[in-house]
Amino acid sequence: METITTNKLTYIKDLEAFVGQKVTLKGWLANKRSGKGIAFLILRDGSGFCQCVVTESDVDEESFENAKSLTLESAFEIEGNVVRDEKQMGGFELQATKLRTISIAEEYPIAKKEHGVDFLMDRRHLWLRSRKQWALSKIRNTVIFSIHQFFQERDFVQMDAPIFTGNACEGTTTLFETDFFGDTAYLSQSGQLYGEAMAMAQGLIYTFGPTFRAEKSKTRRHLAEFWMIEPEMAFYDLDMDMDMIEEFIKYVIKSVLDKNKDELEILERDTTSLQKVANTFPRLTYEKAVRIIKGEEDINGKNSITTLEEDLKEVLEKIETTNKDISERETRIEAGGMKKGEVNFNLNKIGKLKAEVKEFESLAENIPQWIESAKNFEFGGDFGGSDETVLTRLFDTPVMVYKWPAAIKAFYMKEDEEDPNFVKGVDLLAPEGFGEIVGGGERETSKELLVKKIKEHDLPMEAFEWYLDLRRFGSVPHAGFGLGLERLVGWICNIHHIRETIPFPRVMGRLLP
Ligand code: ATP
Ligand code: MG
Repeated sequence: METITTNKLTYIKDLEAFVGQKVTLKGWLANKRSGKGIAFLILRDGSGFCQCVVTESDVDEESFENAKSLTLESAFEIEGNVVRDEKQMGGFELQATKLRTISIAEEYPIAKKEHGVDFLMDRRHLWLRSRKQWALSKIRNTVIFSIHQFFQERDFVQMDAPIFTGNACEGTTTLFETDFFGDTAYLSQSGQLYGEAMAMAQGLIYTFGPTFRAEKSKTRRHLAEFWMIEPEMAFYDLDMDMDMIEEFIKYVIKSVLDKNKDELEILERDTTSLQKVANTFPRLTYEKAVRIIKGEEDINGKNSITTLEEDLKEVLEKIETTNKDISERETRIEAGGMKKGEVNFNLNKIGKLKAEVKEFESLAENIPQWIESAKNFEFGGDFGGSDETVLTRLFDTPVMVYKWPAAIKAFYMKEDEEDPNFVKGVDLLAPEGFGEIVGGGERETSKELLVKKIKEHDLPMEAFEWYLDLRRFGSVPHAGFGLGLERLVGWICNIHHIRETIPFPRVMGRLLP
Protein backbone atom coordinates (compact mmCIF):
# COMPACT_ATOMS: atom_id res chain seq x y z
CA MET A 1 0.00 0.00 0.00
CA GLU A 2 1.26 3.44 -0.82
CA THR A 3 1.55 5.57 2.30
CA ILE A 4 1.51 9.32 2.41
CA THR A 5 3.99 9.84 5.22
CA THR A 6 6.07 7.41 7.18
CA ASN A 7 8.19 8.95 9.89
CA LYS A 8 6.25 11.26 12.21
CA LEU A 9 2.59 11.12 13.12
CA THR A 10 0.52 14.22 13.65
CA TYR A 11 -2.37 14.07 16.10
CA ILE A 12 -5.68 15.88 16.12
CA LYS A 13 -5.02 17.33 19.56
CA ASP A 14 -2.02 19.23 18.14
CA LEU A 15 -3.74 20.80 15.12
CA GLU A 16 -3.57 24.28 16.64
CA ALA A 17 0.12 24.41 15.75
CA PHE A 18 -0.57 23.51 12.12
CA VAL A 19 -3.20 26.04 11.09
CA GLY A 20 -2.57 27.01 7.46
CA GLN A 21 -0.24 24.06 6.95
CA LYS A 22 -0.55 20.64 5.40
CA VAL A 23 -0.62 17.63 7.72
CA THR A 24 -1.32 13.91 7.49
CA LEU A 25 -3.57 12.26 10.04
CA LYS A 26 -4.23 8.57 10.62
CA GLY A 27 -7.29 7.17 12.29
CA TRP A 28 -10.74 5.67 11.99
CA LEU A 29 -14.00 6.84 10.53
CA ALA A 30 -16.38 7.83 13.33
CA ASN A 31 -19.08 9.32 11.12
CA LYS A 32 -19.73 10.22 7.50
CA ARG A 33 -22.09 12.45 5.57
CA SER A 34 -21.80 12.81 1.86
CA GLY A 35 -23.37 14.91 -0.82
CA LYS A 36 -22.71 15.36 -4.51
CA GLY A 37 -18.99 15.82 -5.05
CA ILE A 38 -18.28 16.16 -1.33
CA ALA A 39 -17.84 13.97 1.75
CA PHE A 40 -17.68 15.05 5.37
CA LEU A 41 -15.72 12.54 7.39
CA ILE A 42 -15.32 12.56 11.14
CA LEU A 43 -11.90 11.15 11.82
CA ARG A 44 -10.95 9.97 15.28
CA ASP A 45 -7.33 9.23 16.01
CA GLY A 46 -7.39 8.53 19.73
CA SER A 47 -6.31 12.05 20.57
CA GLY A 48 -9.53 13.66 19.38
CA PHE A 49 -12.15 14.01 16.68
CA CYS A 50 -11.81 16.11 13.54
CA GLN A 51 -14.07 16.87 10.62
CA CYS A 52 -12.35 16.27 7.29
CA VAL A 53 -13.88 17.67 4.14
CA VAL A 54 -13.13 15.77 0.97
CA THR A 55 -14.14 17.76 -2.10
CA GLU A 56 -14.06 15.95 -5.44
CA SER A 57 -12.42 18.88 -7.20
CA ASP A 58 -9.62 19.18 -4.61
CA VAL A 59 -8.39 15.59 -4.57
CA ASP A 60 -7.29 13.01 -7.10
CA GLU A 61 -9.87 10.55 -8.40
CA GLU A 62 -8.60 7.64 -6.34
CA SER A 63 -8.73 9.64 -3.10
CA PHE A 64 -12.32 10.60 -3.72
CA GLU A 65 -13.25 6.99 -4.49
CA ASN A 66 -11.51 5.95 -1.27
CA ALA A 67 -13.47 8.49 0.73
CA LYS A 68 -16.76 7.35 -0.76
CA SER A 69 -16.16 3.71 0.01
CA LEU A 70 -15.13 4.17 3.65
CA THR A 71 -17.49 2.40 6.05
CA LEU A 72 -17.91 3.25 9.71
CA GLU A 73 -14.73 2.41 11.68
CA SER A 74 -12.64 1.88 8.55
CA ALA A 75 -9.07 3.02 9.03
CA PHE A 76 -7.50 5.58 6.73
CA GLU A 77 -4.87 8.22 6.40
CA ILE A 78 -5.64 11.64 5.13
CA GLU A 79 -3.54 14.58 4.03
CA GLY A 80 -4.98 18.06 4.04
CA ASN A 81 -4.83 21.70 5.06
CA VAL A 82 -5.70 22.67 8.60
CA VAL A 83 -8.19 25.50 8.92
CA ARG A 84 -9.63 27.04 12.02
CA ASP A 85 -13.36 26.49 12.45
CA GLU A 86 -14.77 27.39 15.83
CA LYS A 87 -18.00 25.55 15.05
CA GLN A 88 -16.17 22.22 15.00
CA MET A 89 -15.45 20.18 18.10
CA GLY A 90 -11.80 20.84 18.81
CA GLY A 91 -11.94 24.01 16.73
CA PHE A 92 -10.35 22.82 13.46
CA GLU A 93 -11.22 21.25 10.14
CA LEU A 94 -9.08 19.41 7.63
CA GLN A 95 -9.54 20.19 3.95
CA ALA A 96 -8.35 17.03 2.30
CA THR A 97 -5.87 16.81 -0.50
CA LYS A 98 -5.29 13.03 -0.43
CA LEU A 99 -6.89 10.01 1.21
CA ARG A 100 -5.62 6.43 1.41
CA THR A 101 -7.52 3.53 2.88
CA ILE A 102 -5.74 1.42 5.52
CA SER A 103 -8.51 -1.12 6.10
CA ILE A 104 -12.20 -1.34 5.33
CA ALA A 105 -14.36 -2.27 8.31
CA GLU A 106 -17.15 -4.81 8.16
CA GLU A 107 -20.61 -3.59 9.08
CA TYR A 108 -20.13 -1.95 12.48
CA PRO A 109 -22.50 -3.29 15.13
CA ILE A 110 -22.75 -0.11 17.18
CA ALA A 111 -24.91 2.32 15.26
CA LYS A 112 -25.87 5.82 16.23
CA LYS A 113 -29.24 4.73 17.56
CA GLU A 114 -29.75 3.94 21.24
CA HIS A 115 -28.60 0.49 22.35
CA GLY A 116 -29.27 -1.29 25.63
CA VAL A 117 -26.42 -1.47 28.13
CA ASP A 118 -26.11 -5.25 27.84
CA PHE A 119 -25.79 -5.01 24.07
CA LEU A 120 -23.05 -2.42 24.52
CA MET A 121 -21.30 -4.27 27.34
CA ASP A 122 -21.13 -7.40 25.14
CA ARG A 123 -19.30 -5.19 22.66
CA ARG A 124 -17.29 -3.28 25.23
CA HIS A 125 -14.10 -3.74 23.17
CA LEU A 126 -15.74 -1.63 20.45
CA TRP A 127 -17.92 0.57 22.63
CA LEU A 128 -14.72 2.05 24.11
CA ARG A 129 -14.27 3.89 20.80
CA SER A 130 -17.46 5.90 21.04
CA ARG A 131 -17.28 9.53 22.00
CA LYS A 132 -18.61 9.37 25.56
CA GLN A 133 -16.60 6.31 26.45
CA TRP A 134 -13.54 7.90 24.92
CA ALA A 135 -14.07 11.01 27.06
CA LEU A 136 -14.53 8.86 30.16
CA SER A 137 -11.25 7.04 29.55
CA LYS A 138 -9.42 10.31 29.07
CA ILE A 139 -10.78 11.64 32.38
CA ARG A 140 -9.96 8.40 34.16
CA ASN A 141 -6.42 8.84 32.90
CA THR A 142 -6.22 12.41 34.23
CA VAL A 143 -7.49 11.19 37.60
CA ILE A 144 -4.86 8.44 37.75
CA PHE A 145 -2.07 10.78 36.72
CA SER A 146 -3.07 13.49 39.19
CA ILE A 147 -3.35 10.99 42.04
CA HIS A 148 0.26 9.96 41.44
CA GLN A 149 1.24 13.58 41.04
CA PHE A 150 -0.43 14.59 44.31
CA PHE A 151 1.36 11.95 46.35
CA GLN A 152 4.68 12.18 44.53
CA GLU A 153 4.78 15.97 45.01
CA ARG A 154 4.40 15.29 48.73
CA ASP A 155 7.20 12.70 48.76
CA PHE A 156 4.99 9.67 49.34
CA VAL A 157 6.53 6.39 48.22
CA GLN A 158 4.31 4.32 45.93
CA MET A 159 4.24 0.71 47.08
CA ASP A 160 2.69 -2.37 45.49
CA ALA A 161 0.82 -4.58 47.92
CA PRO A 162 0.42 -8.29 47.11
CA ILE A 163 -2.68 -9.48 45.29
CA PHE A 164 -2.57 -13.06 46.62
CA THR A 165 -3.10 -12.77 50.33
CA GLY A 166 -3.19 -15.34 53.11
CA ASN A 167 -5.32 -13.33 55.48
CA ALA A 168 -8.67 -11.65 55.19
CA CYS A 169 -8.51 -8.02 56.18
CA GLU A 170 -12.18 -7.59 57.03
CA GLY A 171 -13.70 -11.06 57.21
CA THR A 172 -14.06 -13.59 54.43
CA THR A 173 -17.59 -13.00 53.17
CA THR A 174 -16.63 -10.78 50.28
CA LEU A 175 -13.41 -12.55 49.33
CA PHE A 176 -12.51 -14.40 46.16
CA GLU A 177 -10.87 -17.63 47.17
CA THR A 178 -8.25 -19.24 45.03
CA ASP A 179 -5.80 -22.12 45.16
CA PHE A 180 -2.23 -21.13 45.85
CA PHE A 181 -0.06 -24.25 45.42
CA GLY A 182 -2.44 -26.21 47.60
CA ASP A 183 -3.07 -23.45 50.13
CA THR A 184 -6.11 -21.21 50.20
CA ALA A 185 -5.31 -17.70 49.10
CA TYR A 186 -7.62 -14.73 48.73
CA LEU A 187 -7.49 -12.02 46.12
CA SER A 188 -6.69 -8.77 47.87
CA GLN A 189 -9.64 -6.75 49.09
CA SER A 190 -7.35 -4.02 50.42
CA GLY A 191 -3.63 -3.38 50.54
CA GLN A 192 -3.90 -1.47 53.78
CA LEU A 193 -2.23 -3.83 56.25
CA TYR A 194 0.77 -4.09 53.93
CA GLY A 195 0.66 -0.33 53.48
CA GLU A 196 0.93 0.06 57.25
CA ALA A 197 4.05 -2.11 57.25
CA MET A 198 5.62 0.00 54.53
CA ALA A 199 4.64 3.26 56.26
CA MET A 200 6.73 2.11 59.23
CA ALA A 201 9.65 1.81 56.80
CA GLN A 202 9.04 4.87 54.59
CA GLY A 203 6.84 7.21 56.63
CA LEU A 204 4.49 8.24 53.85
CA ILE A 205 3.31 5.69 51.30
CA TYR A 206 0.44 4.97 48.93
CA THR A 207 -0.71 1.88 47.12
CA PHE A 208 -2.44 1.96 43.75
CA GLY A 209 -3.69 -1.42 42.77
CA PRO A 210 -6.47 -3.79 41.80
CA THR A 211 -8.87 -4.81 44.54
CA PHE A 212 -11.34 -7.67 44.56
CA ARG A 213 -14.67 -7.96 46.36
CA ALA A 214 -17.04 -10.86 45.87
CA GLU A 215 -20.09 -8.76 46.58
CA LYS A 216 -23.05 -10.61 45.19
CA SER A 217 -25.35 -7.63 45.36
CA LYS A 218 -25.73 -5.93 42.02
CA THR A 219 -25.62 -2.24 42.83
CA ARG A 220 -24.58 0.66 40.65
CA ARG A 221 -21.62 1.28 42.97
CA HIS A 222 -20.02 -2.13 43.30
CA LEU A 223 -17.60 -3.88 41.00
CA ALA A 224 -16.01 -7.25 41.68
CA GLU A 225 -12.68 -5.84 40.53
CA PHE A 226 -11.78 -2.20 41.04
CA TRP A 227 -8.76 0.01 41.62
CA MET A 228 -8.02 1.39 45.01
CA ILE A 229 -5.58 4.05 46.17
CA GLU A 230 -4.53 3.65 49.78
CA PRO A 231 -2.16 6.17 51.37
CA GLU A 232 -0.82 5.43 54.83
CA MET A 233 0.87 8.09 56.93
CA ALA A 234 3.03 7.55 60.02
CA PHE A 235 2.44 10.02 62.88
CA TYR A 236 -0.93 11.14 61.44
CA ASP A 237 -4.07 11.29 63.54
CA LEU A 238 -7.69 11.37 62.38
CA ASP A 239 -7.78 15.15 61.94
CA MET A 240 -4.62 15.14 59.83
CA ASP A 241 -6.09 12.25 57.86
CA MET A 242 -9.25 14.23 57.13
CA ASP A 243 -7.17 17.26 56.08
CA MET A 244 -5.25 15.02 53.69
CA ILE A 245 -8.44 13.52 52.20
CA GLU A 246 -9.85 16.98 51.59
CA GLU A 247 -6.68 18.38 50.05
CA PHE A 248 -6.35 15.27 47.88
CA ILE A 249 -9.89 15.33 46.48
CA LYS A 250 -9.67 19.06 45.79
CA TYR A 251 -6.41 18.52 43.91
CA VAL A 252 -7.71 15.73 41.69
CA ILE A 253 -10.95 17.52 40.82
CA LYS A 254 -9.07 20.69 39.96
CA SER A 255 -6.78 18.74 37.61
CA VAL A 256 -9.78 17.36 35.73
CA LEU A 257 -11.44 20.78 35.52
CA ASP A 258 -8.19 22.23 34.16
CA LYS A 259 -7.33 19.48 31.70
CA ASN A 260 -10.57 17.95 30.52
CA LYS A 261 -12.94 20.75 29.51
CA ASP A 262 -13.71 19.15 26.15
CA GLU A 263 -14.27 15.72 27.64
CA LEU A 264 -16.59 17.06 30.35
CA GLU A 265 -18.50 18.83 27.60
CA ILE A 266 -18.85 15.59 25.60
CA LEU A 267 -20.25 13.99 28.75
CA GLU A 268 -22.60 16.95 29.15
CA ARG A 269 -21.33 17.26 32.69
CA ASP A 270 -22.64 20.33 34.53
CA THR A 271 -19.47 21.26 36.39
CA THR A 272 -21.04 23.54 39.02
CA SER A 273 -20.92 20.81 41.61
CA LEU A 274 -17.28 20.05 40.80
CA GLN A 275 -16.35 23.74 41.13
CA LYS A 276 -17.87 23.75 44.64
CA VAL A 277 -15.30 21.20 45.76
CA ALA A 278 -13.06 24.23 46.32
CA ASN A 279 -15.20 25.02 49.41
CA THR A 280 -14.57 23.47 52.83
CA PHE A 281 -15.96 19.95 53.32
CA PRO A 282 -18.25 19.74 56.36
CA ARG A 283 -17.16 17.22 59.02
CA LEU A 284 -19.90 15.53 61.01
CA THR A 285 -19.74 12.86 63.66
CA TYR A 286 -21.73 9.73 62.90
CA GLU A 287 -24.03 10.68 65.76
CA LYS A 288 -24.81 14.08 64.28
CA ALA A 289 -25.16 12.62 60.78
CA VAL A 290 -27.75 10.15 62.06
CA ARG A 291 -29.77 12.91 63.74
CA ILE A 292 -29.66 14.87 60.48
CA ILE A 293 -30.70 11.87 58.39
CA LYS A 294 -33.63 11.13 60.69
CA GLY A 295 -34.74 14.75 60.50
CA GLU A 296 -34.16 15.29 64.23
CA GLU A 297 -31.63 18.04 63.59
CA ASP A 298 -31.54 20.69 60.86
CA ILE A 299 -28.40 21.61 59.00
CA ASN A 300 -27.78 24.84 57.05
CA GLY A 301 -31.40 25.69 57.80
CA LYS A 302 -32.56 22.51 56.06
CA ASN A 303 -34.38 19.48 57.41
CA SER A 304 -33.75 16.21 55.63
CA ILE A 305 -37.34 15.02 55.60
CA THR A 306 -39.03 18.28 54.62
CA THR A 307 -36.34 18.86 51.98
CA LEU A 308 -37.16 15.49 50.47
CA GLU A 309 -40.87 16.20 50.58
CA GLU A 310 -40.28 19.48 48.74
CA ASP A 311 -38.02 17.70 46.25
CA LEU A 312 -40.78 15.20 45.57
CA LYS A 313 -43.31 17.94 44.93
CA GLU A 314 -40.90 19.63 42.54
CA VAL A 315 -40.18 16.38 40.71
CA LEU A 316 -43.88 15.65 40.25
CA GLU A 317 -44.37 19.14 38.84
CA LYS A 318 -41.43 18.67 36.50
CA ILE A 319 -42.91 15.41 35.21
CA GLU A 320 -46.12 17.23 34.41
CA THR A 321 -44.53 20.22 32.65
CA THR A 322 -42.06 18.06 30.72
CA ASN A 323 -44.82 15.75 29.52
CA LYS A 324 -46.76 18.78 28.41
CA ASP A 325 -43.74 20.09 26.52
CA ILE A 326 -43.36 16.70 24.81
CA SER A 327 -46.95 16.50 23.69
CA GLU A 328 -46.91 20.10 22.44
CA ARG A 329 -43.90 19.36 20.28
CA GLU A 330 -45.50 16.16 19.01
CA THR A 331 -48.67 18.01 18.08
CA ARG A 332 -46.70 20.62 16.19
CA ILE A 333 -44.80 17.96 14.25
CA GLU A 334 -48.01 16.10 13.41
CA ALA A 335 -49.64 19.33 12.21
CA GLY A 336 -47.07 19.35 9.41
CA GLY A 337 -45.54 22.31 7.60
CA MET A 338 -42.35 22.15 9.63
CA LYS A 339 -39.00 22.18 7.83
CA LYS A 340 -37.06 18.90 7.92
CA GLY A 341 -34.33 20.42 10.07
CA GLU A 342 -36.86 21.69 12.54
CA VAL A 343 -38.60 18.31 12.71
CA ASN A 344 -35.30 16.62 13.45
CA PHE A 345 -34.45 19.21 16.06
CA ASN A 346 -37.77 18.62 17.79
CA LEU A 347 -37.53 14.84 17.56
CA ASN A 348 -34.11 15.02 19.11
CA LYS A 349 -35.41 17.30 21.86
CA ILE A 350 -38.37 14.98 22.51
CA GLY A 351 -35.96 12.08 22.94
CA LYS A 352 -34.02 14.07 25.52
CA LEU A 353 -37.15 15.20 27.33
CA LYS A 354 -38.44 11.63 27.50
CA ALA A 355 -35.18 10.54 29.08
CA GLU A 356 -35.58 13.36 31.61
CA VAL A 357 -39.10 12.23 32.45
CA LYS A 358 -37.80 8.72 33.02
CA GLU A 359 -35.24 10.08 35.46
CA PHE A 360 -37.84 12.18 37.27
CA GLU A 361 -40.16 9.20 37.47
CA SER A 362 -37.55 7.04 39.10
CA LEU A 363 -36.85 9.87 41.57
CA ALA A 364 -40.57 10.16 42.30
CA GLU A 365 -40.56 6.48 43.04
CA ASN A 366 -37.38 6.59 45.14
CA ILE A 367 -37.93 9.66 47.30
CA PRO A 368 -40.82 8.21 49.38
CA GLN A 369 -38.66 5.13 50.03
CA TRP A 370 -35.73 7.32 51.07
CA ILE A 371 -37.97 9.23 53.46
CA GLU A 372 -39.24 6.01 54.95
CA SER A 373 -35.82 4.47 55.52
CA ALA A 374 -34.35 7.77 56.78
CA LYS A 375 -37.06 8.13 59.41
CA ASN A 376 -36.59 4.51 60.49
CA PHE A 377 -32.79 4.55 60.52
CA GLU A 378 -31.54 2.75 63.60
CA PHE A 379 -28.63 4.29 65.46
CA GLY A 380 -25.61 2.00 65.28
CA GLY A 381 -26.20 0.74 61.77
CA ASP A 382 -24.16 1.40 58.65
CA PHE A 383 -25.45 3.90 56.11
CA GLY A 384 -27.15 2.42 53.10
CA GLY A 385 -27.01 4.08 49.71
CA SER A 386 -30.27 5.89 50.37
CA ASP A 387 -29.14 7.22 53.77
CA GLU A 388 -26.03 8.61 52.12
CA THR A 389 -28.20 10.24 49.48
CA VAL A 390 -30.54 11.76 52.06
CA LEU A 391 -27.60 13.25 53.95
CA THR A 392 -25.55 14.48 51.01
CA ARG A 393 -28.54 16.16 49.33
CA LEU A 394 -28.35 18.74 52.12
CA PHE A 395 -24.85 19.82 51.10
CA ASP A 396 -23.23 20.90 47.88
CA THR A 397 -19.73 19.65 48.66
CA PRO A 398 -18.53 16.21 49.72
CA VAL A 399 -19.21 15.50 53.40
CA MET A 400 -17.02 13.70 55.94
CA VAL A 401 -18.62 11.49 58.54
CA TYR A 402 -16.31 10.40 61.37
CA LYS A 403 -16.35 8.63 64.75
CA TRP A 404 -18.25 5.49 63.74
CA PRO A 405 -19.71 2.72 65.91
CA ALA A 406 -16.95 0.18 66.50
CA ALA A 407 -19.31 -2.71 65.81
CA ILE A 408 -19.68 -1.91 62.11
CA LYS A 409 -16.08 -1.04 61.34
CA ALA A 410 -12.93 -3.05 60.73
CA PHE A 411 -10.86 -4.43 63.61
CA TYR A 412 -7.86 -2.18 63.01
CA MET A 413 -9.67 1.13 63.56
CA LYS A 414 -8.48 3.13 66.56
CA GLU A 415 -10.76 3.17 69.54
CA ASP A 416 -12.11 6.59 70.45
CA GLU A 417 -10.59 7.88 73.72
CA GLU A 418 -13.89 9.22 75.04
CA ASP A 419 -16.10 6.29 74.17
CA PRO A 420 -14.80 2.79 73.39
CA ASN A 421 -18.00 2.03 71.47
CA PHE A 422 -16.75 4.30 68.73
CA VAL A 423 -13.73 4.23 66.44
CA LYS A 424 -11.77 6.92 64.63
CA GLY A 425 -12.92 6.06 61.15
CA VAL A 426 -14.00 8.49 58.47
CA ASP A 427 -16.02 8.12 55.27
CA LEU A 428 -16.13 10.75 52.56
CA LEU A 429 -19.51 10.95 50.88
CA ALA A 430 -19.76 12.55 47.45
CA PRO A 431 -22.67 14.79 46.54
CA GLU A 432 -25.34 14.15 43.88
CA GLY A 433 -26.15 10.70 45.20
CA PHE A 434 -22.73 9.19 44.53
CA GLY A 435 -22.22 8.17 48.13
CA GLU A 436 -19.07 6.84 49.78
CA ILE A 437 -15.93 7.35 47.74
CA VAL A 438 -13.35 7.22 50.53
CA GLY A 439 -13.16 5.13 53.70
CA GLY A 440 -10.33 5.57 56.16
CA GLY A 441 -9.24 6.49 59.64
CA GLU A 442 -6.67 6.32 62.37
CA ARG A 443 -5.31 2.84 63.14
CA GLU A 444 -5.23 1.13 66.50
CA THR A 445 -1.76 1.33 68.03
CA SER A 446 -2.19 -0.98 71.02
CA LYS A 447 -1.18 -4.59 70.44
CA GLU A 448 -3.44 -5.77 73.28
CA LEU A 449 -6.52 -4.04 71.85
CA LEU A 450 -5.78 -5.43 68.40
CA VAL A 451 -5.51 -8.95 69.75
CA LYS A 452 -8.84 -8.49 71.48
CA LYS A 453 -10.49 -7.14 68.32
CA ILE A 454 -9.08 -9.88 66.10
CA LYS A 455 -10.66 -12.41 68.44
CA GLU A 456 -13.95 -10.51 68.55
CA HIS A 457 -14.04 -10.39 64.76
CA ASP A 458 -13.37 -14.11 64.68
CA LEU A 459 -10.28 -13.72 62.51
CA PRO A 460 -7.42 -16.28 62.52
CA MET A 461 -4.77 -14.88 64.90
CA GLU A 462 -1.84 -16.69 63.24
CA ALA A 463 -2.45 -14.87 59.96
CA PHE A 464 -2.06 -11.54 61.77
CA GLU A 465 1.10 -12.26 63.75
CA TRP A 466 3.18 -10.30 61.26
CA TYR A 467 0.77 -7.37 61.53
CA LEU A 468 1.04 -7.41 65.33
CA ASP A 469 4.82 -7.05 64.89
CA LEU A 470 4.14 -3.52 63.64
CA ARG A 471 2.81 -2.79 67.16
CA ARG A 472 5.58 -4.75 68.89
CA PHE A 473 8.37 -2.84 67.21
CA GLY A 474 7.99 0.91 67.33
CA SER A 475 4.24 1.34 67.31
CA VAL A 476 3.28 4.92 66.40
CA PRO A 477 0.04 6.75 65.69
CA HIS A 478 -0.77 6.45 62.01
CA ALA A 479 -3.68 6.87 59.68
CA GLY A 480 -4.71 6.41 56.08
CA PHE A 481 -7.59 5.94 53.73
CA GLY A 482 -8.81 4.06 50.68
CA LEU A 483 -10.24 5.77 47.62
CA GLY A 484 -12.19 3.81 45.04
CA LEU A 485 -10.97 5.06 41.66
CA GLU A 486 -14.12 4.10 39.75
CA ARG A 487 -16.44 5.72 42.29
CA LEU A 488 -14.46 8.96 42.00
CA VAL A 489 -14.47 8.86 38.20
CA GLY A 490 -18.19 8.04 38.25
CA TRP A 491 -18.96 11.09 40.31
CA ILE A 492 -16.67 13.41 38.32
CA CYS A 493 -18.26 12.26 35.05
CA ASN A 494 -21.76 12.00 36.50
CA ILE A 495 -22.03 8.39 35.31
CA HIS A 496 -24.89 6.67 37.03
CA HIS A 497 -23.44 3.15 36.95
CA ILE A 498 -19.85 2.49 37.91
CA ARG A 499 -19.40 -0.19 35.22
CA GLU A 500 -18.76 2.46 32.56
CA THR A 501 -15.87 4.00 34.48
CA ILE A 502 -13.49 1.05 33.98
CA PRO A 503 -12.42 -0.27 30.58
CA PHE A 504 -13.51 -3.88 31.10
CA PRO A 505 -15.81 -4.11 34.12
CA ARG A 506 -16.05 -7.26 36.19
CA VAL A 507 -19.34 -7.68 37.98
CA MET A 508 -21.30 -10.80 38.82
CA GLY A 509 -22.34 -12.26 35.48
CA ARG A 510 -19.78 -10.42 33.39
CA LEU A 511 -16.44 -12.05 32.56
CA LEU A 512 -16.36 -11.29 28.83
CA PRO A 513 -15.09 -9.43 26.89
P1 ATP B 1 -19.45 0.13 50.57
O1 ATP B 1 -19.94 0.22 51.99
O2 ATP B 1 -19.93 1.25 49.69
O3 ATP B 1 -19.61 -1.22 49.96
P2 ATP B 1 -16.91 -0.23 51.79
O4 ATP B 1 -17.11 0.52 53.06
O5 ATP B 1 -16.99 -1.70 51.78
O6 ATP B 1 -17.87 0.35 50.64
P3 ATP B 1 -14.10 0.29 51.92
O7 ATP B 1 -13.72 -1.06 52.38
O8 ATP B 1 -14.11 1.41 52.87
O9 ATP B 1 -15.51 0.20 51.16
O10 ATP B 1 -13.20 0.62 50.63
C1 ATP B 1 -12.69 1.91 50.37
C2 ATP B 1 -13.26 2.50 49.10
O11 ATP B 1 -13.20 1.55 48.02
C3 ATP B 1 -14.73 2.83 49.19
O12 ATP B 1 -14.91 4.06 49.81
C4 ATP B 1 -15.14 2.84 47.75
O13 ATP B 1 -14.77 4.05 47.12
C5 ATP B 1 -14.30 1.75 47.14
N1 ATP B 1 -15.05 0.49 47.00
C6 ATP B 1 -15.36 -0.40 47.96
N2 ATP B 1 -16.00 -1.46 47.48
C7 ATP B 1 -16.11 -1.25 46.14
C8 ATP B 1 -16.65 -2.02 45.08
N3 ATP B 1 -17.20 -3.21 45.27
N4 ATP B 1 -16.57 -1.50 43.82
C9 ATP B 1 -15.99 -0.30 43.62
N5 ATP B 1 -15.45 0.46 44.57
C10 ATP B 1 -15.50 0.00 45.83
MG1 MG C 1 -16.01 2.11 53.77
